Amino acid sequence: MARAKKFTRPTKPPSRLPLHEGILKHYLLEFTPLFENWQESGNFPQSILLTGTKGNRKEDFAHYLCQWLNCHVSSPKLNFSPESETFNLFGEEPNVSKMKNPTPCGVCPECKRALGNNWIDVINIRPESAVEGRAGLIRIDALVPIQSTLGFGPSEAPFKIILIEKCETMTTQAANALLKTLEEPMKDWIFILTASDTTRVPSTIMSRCQRFNSAPLSVALTKSILIRDGVEEEKANLIAHLSSGNLDKAADMAEGDYWNHRQNIAAVLSNSNSAANTLIEFAGKNVAHLNQIIDQLELIVKDGLLLVTNQDHSNTQPHLVNKDLETSINKFIKSSKKHQTSLFWFDRFRDIQEIRHKIHAPLNRKILSQELIIPWLSLQEGQR
Ligand SMILES: [Zn+2]
Repeated sequence: MARAKKFTRPTKPPSRLPLHEGILKHYLLEFTPLFENWQESGNFPQSILLTGTKGNRKEDFAHYLCQWLNCHVSSPKLNFSPESETFNLFGEEPNVSKMKNPTPCGVCPECKRALGNNWIDVINIRPESAVEGRAGLIRIDALVPIQSTLGFGPSEAPFKIILIEKCETMTTQAANALLKTLEEPMKDWIFILTASDTTRVPSTIMSRCQRFNSAPLSVALTKSILIRDGVEEEKANLIAHLSSGNLDKAADMAEGDYWNHRQNIAAVLSNSNSAANTLIEFAGKNVAHLNQIIDQLELIVKDGLLLVTNQDHSNTQPHLVNKDLETSINKFIKSSKKHQTSLFWFDRFRDIQEIRHKIHAPLNRKILSQELIIPWLSLQEGQR
């Protein structure tokens, strides 16, 4: 059994399994009928594309799917063909009741591998970590482990699984190489791809995959995860509303920087030049900062539009997302006739979209930040 190691593995990232109980529930709600169907038929699509909004933890669920596919209890292959070699290795009799169990056992050798992130038959490909100002990419080199095992089936698990996270970040070269592999399906090979932005997934790859869409995480779930991670309840509640089911964004929001600049945004709404300058400095530093301010202003625009279009129905107060800034936003609207028109808010919405578009272009970020923030100050009116 002992084999000499021919290469050193890159540093291993921590396991994403077991899934957070709430996240698992969220996915099982949608996927249990499919799991049952796959178990009963003994079939699983050769290649699937799991889509859904950013930060909804579909990548974690994809890891769960790998565990589920290869677990000696839940795998559709083992349940369907009890005579298979792997099943007999354990000397077990076929047990039909297992077919109704959609969850992995957590104790078989494959589950242990999954939980320890020590996969043997799963090749996990993800974008290289993002360099400041550039999106992380999946380059053709990352696909070498696939190419080098072509023609070989799984060594111990029921399936050999190629899991490609955020597949929209593949370079054209990488996507073409992957496409060739997808076009020549091999026995017991399964491809699981995930993507948040399907407009960036080549149509040739889309057409080779069965697509499953996953929902954003609920406010309640996001809140409970934040509280578990030590965020106080009131803040967790606000962040859960602000992050619209994106747990990555929620985690960023929970950090100190975010709240400091939220105070500055409130001050900009009160026409503070110095707060505007601080924000411009911050947003001008890098793409992540600029994105953070854009996201916050976009949510304020949504609330502003809601309040302005609701002006005539003064007896009903609409529910704002930015609960903590409610007073500031209301004051801001009352401070000027201009702010009471939908036009002002549509203009700000347009600025935001334009700046989002320009964000990765080689433009001066400080100027972009000024374009974003200055229009919020009531320069001519100078009134509060
Ligand atoms: Zn298992």
